[in-house]
Amino acid sequence: MTKDNFGTWLEIDLDILRSNFTRIRELSQTKVMPIVKANAYGHGLDRIATELESAGAEWLGVARIEEALSLREIGVNTKLLVLGYTPPTRVSHAINHDISLTVYDFRVVNEYVKHANGMNKSVNLHAKIDTGMGRLGVLPENGFDFIKLIDTKNHLRLEGLFTHFACADEPNKTATQNQIRQFDKVLNQLEEANIECPLIHASNSAGFINFDQARFDMVRAGIALYGHAPAHGTPLPDGIYPIVSWKTRLISIKQLPAGHGISYGHQYHTQNNEKIGVVAVGYGDGLRRRSGNHVLIRGKKVPIVGNVCMDQCMVQLDGIDDARIGDEVVIIGEQNNAMISATDIADDWGTINYEVLCGLAARMPRYYFNGK
Ligand SMILES: *Cc1c(COP(=O)(O)O)cnc(C)c1O
Repeated sequence: MTKDNFGTWLEIDLDILRSNFTRIRELSQTKVMPIVKANAYGHGLDRIATELESAGAEWLGVARIEEALSLREIGVNTKLLVLGYTPPTRVSHAINHDISLTVYDFRVVNEYVKHANGMNKSVNLHAKIDTGMGRLGVLPENGFDFIKLIDTKNHLRLEGLFTHFACADEPNKTATQNQIRQFDKVLNQLEEANIECPLIHASNSAGFINFDQARFDMVRAGIALYGHAPAHGTPLPDGIYPIVSWKTRLISIKQLPAGHGISYGHQYHTQNNEKIGVVAVGYGDGLRRRSGNHVLIRGKKVPIVGNVCMDQCMVQLDGIDDARIGDEVVIIGEQNNAMISATDIADDWGTINYEVLCGLAARMPRYYFNGK
């Protein structure tokens, strides 16, 4: 299948994915766990995961055990860490498919013990410390007891210890420095008690970019791996580029008389005789139903007018004299010398590039290629 067959699609450059991965490894000088949760930030879980495995990733991180199991189903053999909550009834799946689980609660750990004992097999765990994110994790003052509990129970294997930064992308470094200090305290207690923990990890993309001292044994890279900056204040290091372009086609061109209503609700009326096009992308694909969106056609930035529909939206084509039905339209990416980034769209939408990428609907075909 070539991309000429598609109405709306994503083009994903696997060569750039590999080089981003290599570059992050080089920069962070430690192990890199690519984070492939949420359909690999919209890029397509299976293909991204297998590509990263072949590029040498030892670990992959997901949010939920369903994601990990689907990776095992397609034959991914890397270590897998579930970063979120796993119900105790799933411990057997984790054991049978060699999936490592995050733990952060005494009672849940005791439930895990029962299930693991029942199978007479061990489950691999990463203990999470809440050093200041206010999300998952035991508080630092309970960290030592929590890890001792895991360490002393049969059939629980303490494989990792980690924390997560809340503000690593912000210019003010105080909050993250405090988090690192809290984490170090727990690490020191473990060292004094001679409790070995094979894998210590803390940094997300912003963390490894901004805090050399927080790289430990591994960094967990998501957004940077896909080639986007974690925030405006944290630009990407050199040599990391976006891997995705989002494209569609011009599927209709009409001259409409002045005063013609456009799309549901007639939020837009033509002012004059206007050339109005239809492009084959809508909110069902992840394009938000709001005004002010733009796309690139024939290398020019053109406005979307009227409400975005589920599968289509309308564009104002005055001045694009050479527009033709079938023209390629760019929503994210480059065309001639023009460019719209996921971050540009996020700025327009009042959100972050992460949300734009995660919103790329599963129904869109993903066209993977290796280099230009
Ligand atoms: C999503 C996530 C990451 C990756 O964060 P990025 O900012 O995309 O690099 C790392 N660690 C945890 C626990 C996460 O949930």
